[in-house]
Amino acid sequence: MSGDTTAREPGAIALAAPLEGWSTPLEEAPDAVFAGRMLGDGVAIDPTAGTLHAPCDGELMLIAPTRHAVTLRTASGCQILMHVGIDTVSLGGEGFTVAAAQGARVRTGEVLLTFDLDLLARRAPSLLTPVIITADSGFRIVRRVDGREVKPGDPLMDLAPEASAAAAVAVAAPGPGAVQRATVGFEHGIHARPAALLAASLRNLAADVRLALRGREANARSTVALMALGAQHGDEIEIRATGPDAALAVSALAAVLGAAAPRSGAPAAVRAPPVAAAAPPAMVAAAVSAHAAPAPGDELAGVIASRGLGVGRAFHLRRPEVAVSEAGAGVAHETAAFDRARAAVHARLERRAAETGEGAGARAAGEIAAAHLELLEDPELLAAARVSIAQGRSAGFAWRGAVRAAAATLRTLSDPRLRERVDDLLDLETQVLLALTGAGTAAAPELPANSIVIARELLPSQLVALDAARVAGLATAAGGATSHVSIIAAAMEIPALVALGSAVLAVREGVELVLDAERGVLEVGPPPARLTAVRATLAARRERLATERAAAQRESRTADGMRIEVFANVGSAAEAEAAVRNGAEGCGLLRTEFLFLERDSPPDEAEQRAAYQKIADALGGRPLTIRTLDAGGDKPIAYLPQPPEENPALGLRGVRTSLANPPLLRTQLRAILGVRPLEQCRILLPMITEAAEVQAVRAVLDELRAELGLRQTIELGVMIETPASAVLADRLVAVADFLSIGTNDLTQYTLAMDRGHPQLAPRLDALHPAVLRLIEAAAHAAAGRGRMVAVCGGLASEPLAAPLLVGLGVHELSAVGAVIPQLKACLSRVTVAECRALAQQALAAPDSAAVRALARRALGEGAEVLR
Ligand code: PEP
Ligand code: MG
Repeated sequence: MSGDTTAREPGAIALAAPLEGWSTPLEEAPDAVFAGRMLGDGVAIDPTAGTLHAPCDGELMLIAPTRHAVTLRTASGCQILMHVGIDTVSLGGEGFTVAAAQGARVRTGEVLLTFDLDLLARRAPSLLTPVIITADSGFRIVRRVDGREVKPGDPLMDLAPEASAAAAVAVAAPGPGAVQRATVGFEHGIHARPAALLAASLRNLAADVRLALRGREANARSTVALMALGAQHGDEIEIRATGPDAALAVSALAAVLGAAAPRSGAPAAVRAPPVAAAAPPAMVAAAVSAHAAPAPGDELAGVIASRGLGVGRAFHLRRPEVAVSEAGAGVAHETAAFDRARAAVHARLERRAAETGEGAGARAAGEIAAAHLELLEDPELLAAARVSIAQGRSAGFAWRGAVRAAAATLRTLSDPRLRERVDDLLDLETQVLLALTGAGTAAAPELPANSIVIARELLPSQLVALDAARVAGLATAAGGATSHVSIIAAAMEIPALVALGSAVLAVREGVELVLDAERGVLEVGPPPARLTAVRATLAARRERLATERAAAQRESRTADGMRIEVFANVGSAAEAEAAVRNGAEGCGLLRTEFLFLERDSPPDEAEQRAAYQKIADALGGRPLTIRTLDAGGDKPIAYLPQPPEENPALGLRGVRTSLANPPLLRTQLRAILGVRPLEQCRILLPMITEAAEVQAVRAVLDELRAELGLRQTIELGVMIETPASAVLADRLVAVADFLSIGTNDLTQYTLAMDRGHPQLAPRLDALHPAVLRLIEAAAHAAAGRGRMVAVCGGLASEPLAAPLLVGLGVHELSAVGAVIPQLKACLSRVTVAECRALAQQALAAPDSAAVRALARRALGEGAEVLR
């Protein structure tokens, strides 16, 4: 097949496959920029041979300096970008050999470059090779081949000129002009992904924008022209714009260019992590070949999403695959079908959201259905689907396209909680597609008793449809620990491991498994003795739990009667209710971020007050500790005016963000002061490093109390999350009413280990003696002033640590609701003197392993159950 010459209609182009391999939809590319079609439409090929051929006749317009990508331009101006593998720019050219010269005219099938398939398979996150018709080239795909094997020369895509191509050509827009210089922050210069991000940042802006470097100029809306500029990291580029939005365009580009985002090159406001790293394992897994079935005795390592232990047999749950055709049967017909399907899903979700079933699982499912309802009505999703229907696509194709593009954008965000909302989008995609086919919901499978359910990814609607009594555990190849599925699993108390990799999909159906979501491993076909031991452990735990739950409503005291309050960390009214049932004596940490995430603007005073009031009511008068917004760091909030930061964990976060945004702080404090009865509440400030910050917030608080005519005071506490605050705790207790130790951040800052770093995770242990010494310093300072000191970080949820914390002088633990019975039982078995002796030994220990050993030994037989 030959480029322009074999075209079927005037101006049409037939493209041949440039590679041998498997052709897949572009959405499968584990990179949001490609999957989200930010560079243009196309397909992706999973290569099985290392030779890239010309897909048509044309001019070899651009070879990337790192030889991993080439762009071909046909005589009619269509640009075809072929990008070998994902993230291969970082190989710096290693493994690639160019076979044709830049600027050469080539014929269909001619070899353009060769690459070392094995090297790429080892070094790149994926071999998937996007073949893209660049968005600005004025052509659209009218037919494509995907989901099948292709050989070089096989038909791959038919292209037709866009009707509106002429309009797409940038014309110098009249109006004001703006010029600014910016330094390229992208580690590998302006390659394909940064180019797409730069061009995308200009969407909706009316301006003609050019980038100039070393005497050359590129239209900033043309990804190919941007790549051709050859800009490297550190180059200073001039941005020139004319038109009504010239100033905005210049600053948008400068912000994107200047964002020193290694590898991904995402805009500063988005602060994406490396895109490939953000891609869900499922997608990466899709690019690797099938695994051999794990053998008896094998262990697969995963991430704990819901703690616990399960034993049972493998049961594979497959997601319903709904095939959709691209072509629609008329705009009116497709629109009506789309609206009917959405209405059906809407009605079902509304029913589920209104259900007030027994148990935290049912409640969590209800809340998630309510969130899905909002997504279903998302105006942007709907608009994208309707535009696609209006262009002649079927309703299913249009909906799937809109959802996947939104999912691709979410995947680029640095907040893992937002990235994990991708599951919810995909869930909705399936629900609407099933409704379109008239199939309603996917029928719940018949589960054998004691099933360990295995899936690539599990959707919330799939999980709630399962008979929980028959599920012994969940094991997924992909997924994240804070996804909605994980939250429901934890609420249902089903042990779950996620991110086990695609090897788990090869586990044979019916094989006996131990799902150890305490060690983080799935044991395949363990020996009979292990199965018996796990079953015995589970039986003993069930018995003990029943006893502990029965005793959990009592006040928590040590064996010798010292009162240690056991509170819960909560994020919603449903969690507060569940925590109270587990014996929580109050809430020691309400993370108010939950109200601020996943939206475009902050909640107003009334919305905040209502949310806090609901939680206060759910606690039935028990104390409620409301932490002011802890934005920034690992919890970025895109709509806040945050400057780009090289290291957000050390940037404007916690109280610093609140003090930098006085209206935000005032609104939140006013909302808290509106909760009744006010004496139920106390306020906690995150990321404090010195007394002046506390005094600044107290001044605002006093001003607001005066404004509201409130004579009543409210306790103001300080989180000890930084070494500075622990060391200066004596100063802080002079201005604060109580202290609460956030061991998650205190540990990361003390040990200089990122709390989200996967490789350092095993060493990021809050029982490190250095952290314990800081806790002791803070507790000592609090005791000097008779102030209460709590621990609300993750360490408080470890029963093994509870006696140690009491020994260090802590009075209150605020933990995950489900462990409260165990915490109370553990405290009831030790005396204060024993706790103090243990603490003294731990402070002198060399490392966290030694501390853990000491704690286990001190607890004697009880330690076995605490892990
Ligand atoms: C902590 O840092 O321990 C803490 C409780 O705060 P967060 O986990 O919300 O940062
Ligand atoms: Mg913290």
